[in-house]
Amino acid sequence: MPGYTPPLRDMRFVLQELLEADKVLAELPPHAGLDADTLSQVLEEGGKFAAGVVFPLNQTGDREGCRYDPVTRSVTAPAGFRDAYRQFVEAGWPSLACDTAFGGQGLPAVLNNALYEMLNAANQAWTMYPGLSHGAYECLHAHGTPEQKALYLPKLVSGEWTGTMCLTEPHCGTDLGLLKTRAMPQPDGSYRLSGGKIFISAGEHDMAANIVHLVLARLPDAPPGTRGISLFVVPKFLPDADGAPGARNAIHCGAIEHKMGIHGNATCQMNLDEATGWLVGEPHRGLNAMFVMMNAARLGVGMQSLGLTEVAYQNAAAYARERLQGRSLTGTKAEDRPADPILVHPDVRRMLLTARAYAEGGRAFSSCIALMIDCEQHHPDPATRQQAADDVALLTPIAKAFLTDNAWIACSEALQVFGGHGYIAEWGMEQYLRDARINMIYEGTNTIQSLDLLARKVLSDNGAKLRQFGGKVRAFAEAHAADPRMAEFITPLAELGDKLGKLTMEIGMKAQQDRDEMGAAAVPYLRVAGHWMFAYFFARMAQLSLDRAAGGDDFYRAKLALARFYFARLLPETAMLIRQARSGAASLMAMDEALF
Ligand SMILES: Cc1cc2nc3c(=O)[nH]c(=O)nc-3n(C[C@H](O)[C@H](O)[C@H](O)COP(=O)(O)OP(=O)(O)OC[C@H]3O[C@@H](n4cnc5c(N)ncnc54)[C@H](O)[C@@H]3O)c2cc1C
Repeated sequence: MPGYTPPLRDMRFVLQELLEADKVLAELPPHAGLDADTLSQVLEEGGKFAAGVVFPLNQTGDREGCRYDPVTRSVTAPAGFRDAYRQFVEAGWPSLACDTAFGGQGLPAVLNNALYEMLNAANQAWTMYPGLSHGAYECLHAHGTPEQKALYLPKLVSGEWTGTMCLTEPHCGTDLGLLKTRAMPQPDGSYRLSGGKIFISAGEHDMAANIVHLVLARLPDAPPGTRGISLFVVPKFLPDADGAPGARNAIHCGAIEHKMGIHGNATCQMNLDEATGWLVGEPHRGLNAMFVMMNAARLGVGMQSLGLTEVAYQNAAAYARERLQGRSLTGTKAEDRPADPILVHPDVRRMLLTARAYAEGGRAFSSCIALMIDCEQHHPDPATRQQAADDVALLTPIAKAFLTDNAWIACSEALQVFGGHGYIAEWGMEQYLRDARINMIYEGTNTIQSLDLLARKVLSDNGAKLRQFGGKVRAFAEAHAADPRMAEFITPLAELGDKLGKLTMEIGMKAQQDRDEMGAAAVPYLRVAGHWMFAYFFARMAQLSLDRAAGGDDFYRAKLALARFYFARLLPETAMLIRQARSGAASLMAMDEALF
């Protein structure tokens, strides 16, 4: 039976010492009165909820899964899910980072992000129900009409209703330009939607009174491709005159998928048979509106993986302290025991430190992005808002793909620490690995994230956003260049920044001749950029730790040791990745299609 302790000490370090979140938030009018103590208290309470209420349902939810009843076309979530969600709503957690105008508490995104790390560590499948609702809230908040906002936002904010995003169809996943669901305008201003959606997370369940589906569909006059997609809000129950759930709408779940992981979350086939919906945003501009939800969800998926990385690490570390096998290569360590704990073995430490570095690097990186989202939304200076928006746009695909790839590695290494016991369901490690796999696929596969980064975020503005963030990295390196203790971190960080700049130019030049060069380089390119981010944050964390580690404080001694491990053992992967990225498209495209 696995365990989970919310990493509150590390969260406080990241928020208060590394990012100085209270000072940053003090400049944002809605958050000006928020102090570090309040942030800490909210995290502590969130941690208690995650560990105490949601975590105990993780393994049982995985074993039981969701149940579909073809007669009523209803879905029942695993035992305990509904009650845990009721407690979540009663405690006011869904409203944490929502607009006060709609009943929210108006707390910052950076806090919500940390809450979601803990919820995901405790139970990713359960957390997807409220997680998707928050995405729907953000989309309607940004693009809904005043009437739509008044009707739906208070219910999503309170958590009484949950939300979904309905994009995927059987023949169209990545390429949404192929989607076929139709929306016919009605004289009363509503639309009738017909079509089939698949793989819709939380598409049907018994946890909330209503489900607000955000559905992509085509109007009759839509141009082909992605320029002809519109967004609609399609509630499961049509709100009556008082805004309460009324008549059943013609959007039903036809089946749920049997799948590798996240068994507690219903992955639904949704049929729309002239379902009533209303347009959100401009006609044919639905993808644009949906991007608000997709961007929020991309960082959210990164947080799913960060949670899994942390919980897998914690359990593997606990096991490695207890499991006795063999003796240390340098001589017996536990004289009074028949064998030493496996923690003495260098390679067991490598596996543990890999998972821990991916957790602590990921926490620093993703918290920084979340804080930038707060600045993007609320900073009084438009130039600062724009700069934050550019940074968020650049870093979001890196966070999604790098954190989810890392979690797959981390969960696999953590499982390996258990040896054969890791493969056995009872210990919970194989569930973490199964659950982690989907995060590399949905919200745009990691390949698509890497193309988004390279093509849209980097090459489309000739590297301007990359240089803007690079300026911060350089400023940090220059500020600490005179400290000889920092050389072991700053030298490789600066070198990697130079190499990334050169690699970007080289790919950009090649891509002008042949677009396949971009597709061939994108995945290793994103991973290099991810390491550049982690190197920057580990260098900053090391700098904050040097003095206090020397003074003997264990927290900072561990931080420093982890930073050194990261630079020695994980960062060197970039040498290989850069070679791969530079090797070009030829070796990939040489084989004739017929030979595959
Ligand atoms: C458990 C689960 C939950 C999901 N939840 C939701 C949800 O709530 N809402 C929703 O709308 N969808 C959801 N999805 C769908 C998910 O977002 C899609 O599966 C994903 O976007 C990929 O689409 P696809 O499966 O059709 O794969 P395809 O698009 O067919 O891709 C197949 C492969 O080809 C690659 N590929 C495709 N196009 C390109 C390209 N242009 N360049 C390079 N490589 C390319 C992909 O990276 C992938 O490796 C969910 C899926 C699952 C399995």
